[in-house]
Amino acid sequence: MFTEADALERDLADPGHRELFHVPPAEGGRYAETAYLAGNSLGLQPRATRGDLLDDLDAWARLGVEGHLDAARPWLPYHEFLTGTAARLVGALPQETVVMNSLTVNLHLLMVSFYRPTGTRTKIVIEDTAFPSDSYAVRSQARFHGLDPDATVVRLDPADVLSYLAHEGHEVALVLLGGVNYLTGELMDIPAITRAGHEAGALVGWDLAHAAGNVPLELHEWGPDFAAWCSYKYLNAGPGALGGVFVHERHLGDPAVQRFEGWWSTEPATRFEMTPVSRPPATADAWQISNPPIYAMGPVRTSLEIFDRAGMAALRARSTRLTGYLETLLDELPITVVTPRDPARRGSQLSLRVGGGSAHELARRLRFEFGVITDAREPDIVRAAPVPLYCTYHDCWRLADALAHVIEEVR
Ligand SMILES: *Cc1c(COP(=O)(O)O)cnc(C)c1O
Repeated sequence: MFTEADALERDLADPGHRELFHVPPAEGGRYAETAYLAGNSLGLQPRATRGDLLDDLDAWARLGVEGHLDAARPWLPYHEFLTGTAARLVGALPQETVVMNSLTVNLHLLMVSFYRPTGTRTKIVIEDTAFPSDSYAVRSQARFHGLDPDATVVRLDPADVLSYLAHEGHEVALVLLGGVNYLTGELMDIPAITRAGHEAGALVGWDLAHAAGNVPLELHEWGPDFAAWCSYKYLNAGPGALGGVFVHERHLGDPAVQRFEGWWSTEPATRFEMTPVSRPPATADAWQISNPPIYAMGPVRTSLEIFDRAGMAALRARSTRLTGYLETLLDELPITVVTPRDPARRGSQLSLRVGGGSAHELARRLRFEFGVITDAREPDIVRAAPVPLYCTYHDCWRLADALAHVIEEVR
């Protein structure tokens, strides 16, 4: 039943938007293109990115400094061209959203505002499988406040977060979890954990690196205090692309909320009055500091517009079908999927546990012998994400077919 012909038929019946992307050529195997299943790590390049970027670059050549106001997409308000699409992507109000900096920098800037340890309420809750960068970030925040990171940062199994908050929540200043876990691909119950954190009197932030562009989000309605994400994974804006930030409406314009400021934190209309005191707007733009890198912002704009046109609901529906199909194929093989089986508790990514510490060897063979791109993560996980914008049923079939050939050899 799960033949190659069947996969190709499914692609005809349920196409994505592959034509909008550059798919890298395969480095091995019998197909011209890679089966690219690493969009959870670095998304593919939209075909429109190069032309859009060159237009912005040409404006500088033609206009010099006058491009700030006179470019077709003027640089002064450039970040605002990304706000609407970014806000729709994460279910936020436009005033709650801004694209700026990179993810971990933004987490720090947001913790300046929302990690304010006082008295016995000092703890930061993260997940025990947190991405290391997030762990480093919160530990350094604890030290910055003169606290012992080992005593301040509480690492929990995600399944234990709700009961911990119910019993020990009075000591928690901040809950900061990944919306979709980078290693297991598990989608957290963001609304429930947010509610429980708030009931415990804590503030709640989400790292949406693996969630933005992967699963539908309703940040305004779910009510976390803040969130941050990057744009180079599911969002296809290129290596090191700028991140996005959400600050809930309830904190906007609140003078009690601390922020670090620069000239981009102030009301644009007053920016050039050259006064010594800023007048921040009651929007997430107030968290900006510097004038933004236009040529890093352009690819985010191009990519967000693709998401806006495709629609997150339609992408989620295709993602559920594609990932479910891949799961069915993998179930035929001697391999363990550690990602939750319930489609409501995951996004595109399936994480496969490979015995014998051979995950890197497996990913290498898949790439060079079969033209299938996955990635390996310590200690024993291979991640594969059939992302709905550009992956195909045939990509999924190729992964399963390749695994069937090599899995016994690398175990
Ligand atoms: C990808 C990722 C990061 C990367 O942080 P950068 O600041 O963009 O380098 C951080 N946290 C999580 C959870 C990630 O998945």
